[in-house]
Amino acid sequence: MERLQKVIAHAGFASRRKAEELIKEGHVRVNGKTVKELGIKVSSSDRVEVNGIPVEREEPVYFLLYKPRGVISSVTDDKGRKVVTDYFQQIKQRIYPVGRLDFDTSGLLLLTNDGEFANLLMHPKNEIEKVYVAKVKGIPSREKMRSLEKGVRLEDGKTAPAQTKVLSIDKKKQTAIIELTIHEGRNRQVRRMLEAIGHPVIKLKRERYGFLTLQGLNAGEARELTAHEVKQLR
Ligand code: URA
Repeated sequence: MERLQKVIAHAGFASRRKAEELIKEGHVRVNGKTVKELGIKVSSSDRVEVNGIPVEREEPVYFLLYKPRGVISSVTDDKGRKVVTDYFQQIKQRIYPVGRLDFDTSGLLLLTNDGEFANLLMHPKNEIEKVYVAKVKGIPSREKMRSLEKGVRLEDGKTAPAQTKVLSIDKKKQTAIIELTIHEGRNRQVRRMLEAIGHPVIKLKRERYGFLTLQGLNAGEARELTAHEVKQLR
């Protein structure tokens, strides 16, 4: 038995707070009857609907994928390119990525069918630490690295403070490998930050998401999160 608002949130209809509003405002029916009070519990055999749309009650699943480059962070692609859910064809649940990595970015991506969990992780106030390793054109000066740390002005506003490390430099090729830790998740943020300081990205990989790493996985491989990991992320 699970609380009605939790079931609605899990199915990705809304956050738990929004689900409570939907119930109070009379948008939710259980076994054909409108339910307006909060806190009732439903079992897997109860038929739940939001505005007449049945709420799918799949068992929640959570995966960590080492996304290779050249794969779309989506469930379908109209151009027929490979998508991240192609790695999960043996799974009966309909999972989707938590946020996205660019087509050309490799690295750690979470996938789930738990809408509430996905919303929670993507909420800006959650500020989950993400660690990227980027190969960039040119060798960034200390001042340039400092400006990344302080925040750089992008067209959608200044970025929050980041942590940086130069991991290696190749003087001959005039490239550098840098580590960048950010707490936001704006579209193409790392590429835009590095572009803004005059060091465009050649290659980009997400190494870490909160406490999760790619340890033990090769590109294109995935594993299920443990129950403990899911609990820690919530
Ligand atoms: N920042 C980017 O620029 N690209 C990604 O894929 C992720 C973060």
